Amino acid sequence: MKRRRTIQDLRDAEVRAKRVLVRVDFNVPLADGRVADVTRIAAAAPTIRHLAAMGGRVVLLSHLGRPKAKVEPKYSLAPVVEAATRVIGLPVQWCGTTVDAAAVEATRRLKDGEVLLLENTRFLPGEETNDDGLASALAALGDVYVNDAFGAAHRAHASTAGVAKHLRPAVAGLLMQKELDYLGGALDKPKRPFIAILGGSKISGKIDVIEALLPKVDGLLIGGAMACTFFKAMGLETGNSLVEPERVALAKELMDRAGFRLTLPHDALVAPAIDQPGQARAVKRDAIPATAAMYDIGPESCASYARAIAAAQTVLWNGPMGVFETPGFDAGTGTVARAMAEATKRGATTIVGGGDSAAAVEQAGLAASMSHVSTGGGASLEFLEGKALSGVECLDQVGA
Ligand code: ADP
Ligand code: MG
Repeated sequence: MKRRRTIQDLRDAEVRAKRVLVRVDFNVPLADGRVADVTRIAAAAPTIRHLAAMGGRVVLLSHLGRPKAKVEPKYSLAPVVEAATRVIGLPVQWCGTTVDAAAVEATRRLKDGEVLLLENTRFLPGEETNDDGLASALAALGDVYVNDAFGAAHRAHASTAGVAKHLRPAVAGLLMQKELDYLGGALDKPKRPFIAILGGSKISGKIDVIEALLPKVDGLLIGGAMACTFFKAMGLETGNSLVEPERVALAKELMDRAGFRLTLPHDALVAPAIDQPGQARAVKRDAIPATAAMYDIGPESCASYARAIAAAQTVLWNGPMGVFETPGFDAGTGTVARAMAEATKRGATTIVGGGDSAAAVEQAGLAASMSHVSTGGGASLEFLEGKALSGVECLDQVGA
């Protein structure tokens, strides 16, 4: 089977004394000019340390925020230097530009094992349009290209894809490899039983994921507001719950097609309004009052979803079971997270994808108890939909 070449496949001579251009995802939240959360830096650190230890001269590229193809000081990567130095455990040098002569010169001054961070790639016109001139200019910053920015891999930008046209070898970093191994492994050769749990606010953003997963899973468990659109399709009262009327027909069709493999919650936690968790009560799914809305799956569903997770060998989770941001509506999400942590302990493979689901797992202090928590919200969804990711397709392949 073909796979992408990774930094572990690089020979010593391909790295030592070479400028290794690494696209990372340092798109971190800033508060008062400081990095508020170093998770993404920590996720890229193993790749940077590995390359530095091999004697590579590491040149880091990243985007931060959404500047409009021009310099916007509030999106400068400068505040990341201090955090990156601390988290990576190596001094990170700073260059205030990205592709000009000064930047190229800075890469040439690097010694073996040193690390340099360049300025925000999205300051550059041509980054998001994948301009070939820019891609070629970026290629002049290195002798080898490494893409470790899984979170940006679904974007065909100059620094995530175009640059690889001009710079070989082009290989995956350790984080990228881990993401592809876990997400790809679940889709290609899961240990069975393989169940997927899908939730979140809207069915519309996840239809392609449901369609792609249905033929692969032994069971698909639905939670979140998404369940309400299915309830509507069953002809049930959904009160003021978040329902997508234009998706009801599709929900019906998915249910008919999936048969017993699709599980919907049997009960719901309902309340008169989202700011009244104190008024919450559990009802059967066919007893949702017209004057209330479903904000979480009910206790029976929590128990049955936990049992399904306990019996599975591969569990893939995307989308919270309820409005987990509000205490009182977080039981379903917490139950799934804890059941998955237990499953990991007994040897099951557990994977969490999606920005809010990852945040929920983090909030529950269970991120380290999962086999893998994806660092890419949009990218992980597109991958699970079976779409090719530009930032992966551009990399070298190995194998027959
Ligand atoms: P992810 O980022 O993990 O893919 P989504 O973005 O699809 O997840 O959905 C997360 C959001 O769904 C959360 O903000 C959560 O409050 C909301 N949500 C979950 N269940 C409900 C519900 N029953 N009613 C309203 N919103 C819900
Ligand atoms: Mg989200």
